[in-house]
Amino acid sequence: MKRVINFSAGPAAIPLEVLEQARDEMVDWNGTGCSVMEVSHRGKEYDALHHETMDLFRELAGMGSEWKVLFTTGGASTQFLMFPMNMLGAGRSADYINTGNWSKAAIKEAKRFGNITMPANMELEGGIFRSIPKQADLKFNPAAAYVHYTSNNTIFGTQWHYVPDAKGKPLVSDMSSDIFSRPLDFSGHSMIYAGAQKNLGPSGVTVVAIKESFLAKAESDLPTMMSYKVFADKDSMFNTPPCFSIYILNLVMKWLKKNGGLEGMGKVNNAKQTTLYGAIDGSKGYYTCPVDRDARSWMNVVFRLPSVDLEEKFIKDAKVAGIVQVKGYRTVGGIRFSTYNASGLKDIQTAVGFMDDFQKKNPA
Ligand SMILES: *Cc1c(COP(=O)(O)O)cnc(C)c1O
Repeated sequence: MKRVINFSAGPAAIPLEVLEQARDEMVDWNGTGCSVMEVSHRGKEYDALHHETMDLFRELAGMGSEWKVLFTTGGASTQFLMFPMNMLGAGRSADYINTGNWSKAAIKEAKRFGNITMPANMELEGGIFRSIPKQADLKFNPAAAYVHYTSNNTIFGTQWHYVPDAKGKPLVSDMSSDIFSRPLDFSGHSMIYAGAQKNLGPSGVTVVAIKESFLAKAESDLPTMMSYKVFADKDSMFNTPPCFSIYILNLVMKWLKKNGGLEGMGKVNNAKQTTLYGAIDGSKGYYTCPVDRDARSWMNVVFRLPSVDLEEKFIKDAKVAGIVQVKGYRTVGGIRFSTYNASGLKDIQTAVGFMDDFQKKNPA
């Protein structure tokens, strides 16, 4: 067996232990004589797994019983429309902070439901993003029903390193690409959501955590599968949930717990980002990171080489060295290492060794 160092931005690496357990249980899960994909979602075995996963999520996040965890499908992209559909009545306003392509995608959908204002817009000429606004620069709309932000910009490699203060308004965050990567005070939020395929497991399930008090404000008269209230009332089992994805999510939650929870992840991820940015900054300008220092993402480390030719060679040579999926986003170019929870410090040290070696062999 040969496992590579996988820096994919998503779907991303999953802890090897989780994959091995899933393999071992594939044909006979939990003594059922079936795989988890072949049992009724109304049966007691699956039901226990389903609720345990919700509880594990709340436990890891430090969320009390005032939070409801929902499992939806259609990715974070469906939350871009489902959320305003539930929470933004016609004619009302909402604040969306624009820090990247995914913020823009959320804004585009929300505009179908109400008037969207931007407390800050970090887009530069050419559709580039390099920074995160400071609290003092956020100009909130007093009429906004809520404030939405994207905690990590997967594409350009910027990340919020503080929780914005929404000045009493419900704060909502798309945390798809940095959820559970370090300790975070979730209590300042009214709702968070994340597609699982970056830091939580496989694609197919999206986790929505919403405070009961906020949920109470959700629109009631909606198409059934678009209604947060239905998802909450039916424990996300109005229809057949993505059972296999939730099963892997369950195993990842247990792996997280075993590895020190968010505290443990934060320590490793901090060591990883220090090592990686240290190598970039220590390369005498061979590797350059286009992102503002205080906005550098711990999860998506984006950098350039002296030329596009060298970048292409870097991607090819990295693959030969067993380091894959390092190409920057198609409209951005350059290199991107997506270093979510499943990549360990050792992987980063190996990658940094490769970077040093590449620089020596390929002078600018
Ligand atoms: C990947 C990503 C999305 C899109 O997720 P899907 O599950 O593919 O819809 C949304 N927001 C952020 C921050 C992402 O990284």
